[in-house]
Amino acid sequence: RAKQKGRNQYQRFSEVFDEKLHRRLTLRNELRIAMDQHDLQLYYQPVINQSGHICGCEALLRWLHADLGWVSPEDFITIAEQTGQIVELGRWVLWRACNDAQCLVQSRLMPGRVAVNLSPLQFYRSDFLADLGSVLEEVGLDAHWLELELTEGTLMRDTRSSIDTLNSLAEMGITTAIDDFGKGCSSLDYLQRLPVTRIKLDKSFVHAIDHGDCNAAVCKSVIVLGRELELEVLAEGVETRAQYECLLGLGCEKFQGYLFARPMPFSALCKLLQDGPGKPLQPRL
Ligand code: C2E
Ligand code: MG
Ligand code: MG
Ligand code: MG
Repeated sequence: RAKQKGRNQYQRFSEVFDEKLHRRLTLRNELRIAMDQHDLQLYYQPVINQSGHICGCEALLRWLHADLGWVSPEDFITIAEQTGQIVELGRWVLWRACNDAQCLVQSRLMPGRVAVNLSPLQFYRSDFLADLGSVLEEVGLDAHWLELELTEGTLMRDTRSSIDTLNSLAEMGITTAIDDFGKGCSSLDYLQRLPVTRIKLDKSFVHAIDHGDCNAAVCKSVIVLGRELELEVLAEGVETRAQYECLLGLGCEKFQGYLFARPMPFSALCKLLQDGPGKPLQPRL
């Protein structure tokens, strides 16, 4: 009887395993097709400053699969990194984001920099800077409109090489942000030496802020650290008024989150920028 139970458990385990493996293999092949058929889209989430105005945005990749529905970027980017497809995909993201940015510049709607997420596989390629330069040139976008986001994990993989690349980006006029800050336990010594512009406080710390009582130890520490190192702090994943007010009180400079706006198609971003020039984006209550 115990044996029978064990076998059932194994069977259940292997079914789950097969299902996962199957899904991964499917996604890998489907991603190839999606890339060929242009089924991928860039959404944009506004970045808000202390006075509630839109001061930039972040490009976020979206994939709407005919049968599977929306596939989470966390899932398909992991797969694209394993298969190496991320290099081609990432180049497309940069190209698309630069084109949209140029469109905003030309229609005088550009609120600030457009931030693009980078995979370590892109960042550490020997031709990364040359490739980036040629995208900017091809599109005709001034590099001052671009920001690149890297995780702590990416930057810590090879700090010497990271510092060189970050310096080159700064020389080009491109700013850089450490994404999901606080999750990666990077050494404070290295942080001090990394020539980045901004840190993006990970949303898990933002969500930990209590309603009413503002005892957000990590948020507070990161904001103080940012001030000491002269790095701008942006809080990601701001969902509630309590979180926003607490962070504002702590001196956080920029905000992103569902409280203000969800990631949206480029056309919706254009409409938002057209409708409210100079108008603060009110938190949605
Ligand atoms: P990320 O760069 O940290 O992006 C922030 C994520 O938080 C996005 O998830 C965004 O939709 C979500 N978010 C924004 N506001 C809120 C909020 O108020 N509450 C909550 N709970 N979530 C919020 P998304 O779009 O699913 O992307 C997940 C991750 O996938 C990104 O995290 C980024 O690491 C990666 N990713 C997305 N697009 C790209 C890309 O073009 N290239 C690369 N390499 N990675 C990308
Ligand atoms: Mg990001
Ligand atoms: Mg993030
Ligand atoms: Mg994240």
